[in-house]
Amino acid sequence: MAQYEKILLKNMEQPGYSGSLKEYEQAGGYQALKKVLKDFSPDAVIDAVKKSGLRGRGGAGFPTGVKWGFIPKDHPGPKYLCCNADESEPGTFKDRQLMERDPHQMLEGMVITCFAIGAETAYIYIRGEFRLGAQILWRALDEAKAAGYVGENLLGSGKTINIYVHQGAGAYICGEETALLESLEGKRGMPRFKPPFPATHGLYQKPTVVNNVETMANIPHIINNGAEWFASIGSPPKSTGTRVFCLSGHVKRPGNYEVPMGIPFREFIYDLGGGMRSDKPLKGFIPGGASAPFLKPEHLDVKMDFESVALAGSMLGSGGVTVMEEGTSMVWAALRLMEFFYHESCGKCTPCREGSSWLVQTLQRIWQKKGRQGDIELLEELCGNIAGRTVCAFGEAEVGPVLSTIKHWRHEYEALIQEAQVALPPNKELPVFSH
Ligand code: SF4
Repeated sequence: MAQYEKILLKNMEQPGYSGSLKEYEQAGGYQALKKVLKDFSPDAVIDAVKKSGLRGRGGAGFPTGVKWGFIPKDHPGPKYLCCNADESEPGTFKDRQLMERDPHQMLEGMVITCFAIGAETAYIYIRGEFRLGAQILWRALDEAKAAGYVGENLLGSGKTINIYVHQGAGAYICGEETALLESLEGKRGMPRFKPPFPATHGLYQKPTVVNNVETMANIPHIINNGAEWFASIGSPPKSTGTRVFCLSGHVKRPGNYEVPMGIPFREFIYDLGGGMRSDKPLKGFIPGGASAPFLKPEHLDVKMDFESVALAGSMLGSGGVTVMEEGTSMVWAALRLMEFFYHESCGKCTPCREGSSWLVQTLQRIWQKKGRQGDIELLEELCGNIAGRTVCAFGEAEVGPVLSTIKHWRHEYEALIQEAQVALPPNKELPVFSH
C-alpha cells in the first residue's frame, strides 16, 4: 500500500497528540503567523495562496486566493471572515476531525486569513450537533488568546483579530454560504439571491470571505513551506495539495484519509479502504458527498481531482466517498438520499420545495412496487424542472442521485415498475404520500 506524506493529519496521527496549544507549538504551530506578521504584507499572503493553487475544500472548489482578492481593499467599514464548519453533507466527516483533533491548525489559518483580507472579526459557524467540537474550539480559543495569537495587539503587532464560535441549529442548508450568513445574522437560514456576492455584500452587508475548515487548515502550511511546494503536490495545475477524503459505506476500513489530489478511486477504495466488506463486487459509489452523481466500477481509474471527476460526469464536492456493493438497490439508495434532500429543502423556492416532495413520492411508489408506466419519465421531467431553476445550488444537488441512478441502473427502476404492473389489480387506489 502506498504511503503518502500527511500535512493536515500529521500532528493528530502522532501517538498521544492532544491538540493543545503547547503540543501544536512543539510541532511548529503558529510559526506561520509569526512569519506573516514579520515578513508579509496582506497582498503577499493573498499572492502566495493564489500561487499555491489552493481551492476551497467545502464543495464548490473555488480558488481560495482569488476569492480573497475580491474583497475590496478600500472599504471603510468592517470586513469579516466566516469559517464554514457546518459540515452536514451525508458521508462527509473530515472537518469534524480537523476541528476536534487539531483545532489550532485551523485557528492559525483563520488569523492569517483575517490579516490578508483586512478583517478584525471572524466567526466559526459550527454545526449544532458538533457540541464536542464547539467545546474544543472554545478551549483552543482561550489558549490562543492567552498566548497572544488571537485578540488585541496580536503578538505585539498592534493588530486586532477576534474569533467567535457560533453554533448553528442543525440545518443542512446553512452550509450554503449565504444561508450561513443569514443564520449568523439571527435570521432564518435561507440562501440569498446572488449577485451581490459575499465578497462585497456578506455578513451585515459588509465584505466577507466564507471559507471551509479544511481550507483554513491548509493556510499555515502554505506560508511555512511556500506556494511552490504546495503547488507541486497532487494533480497540478488545477488540483493542488492533499485532500482529506472521507470513506464510508460497504468498505472494510471506513474513515478519513489524507492523500495527494489525483490518486485513482481504485487505490482509495481498495488499497486504503480494504475493498468491499463482504468481498462482493463494487456496484457504485458517490465520489463527493450526497449531492454528487453516482459513478460505476468502470470509473474506478478516474483520478480524484476536480477536473477528472467532472469529466466522468460527477463532482469531487465535499470529499465524501460512499461505496455500495453489489446487491444494493440503487432505487432504494436514490430514495434514501432524496428523502434527506426533501427534509432539508429550506422551502424558499417552489421547484425545490414542491419538486423534492414529488420526487420522494414517485420514488417511494416505485420502491414499494406500486410504480406506474411513465414514472421514470416523470422523475426525469421533475428533475429537469428543478435543476437550474432554483435560488441556490441545492436544486442541482438533489437531482444528481436521481438522474445518475436512472442513467446507470435504469433497468432496476424498470424491473420494479414491471413487478408493480403484475401485482396491482386494475384501477387500484394508490396510497397518498405523507412525510
Ligand atoms: Fe431553499 Fe431549495 Fe431553493 Fe435552495 S433550492 S433556496 S434549499 S428551496
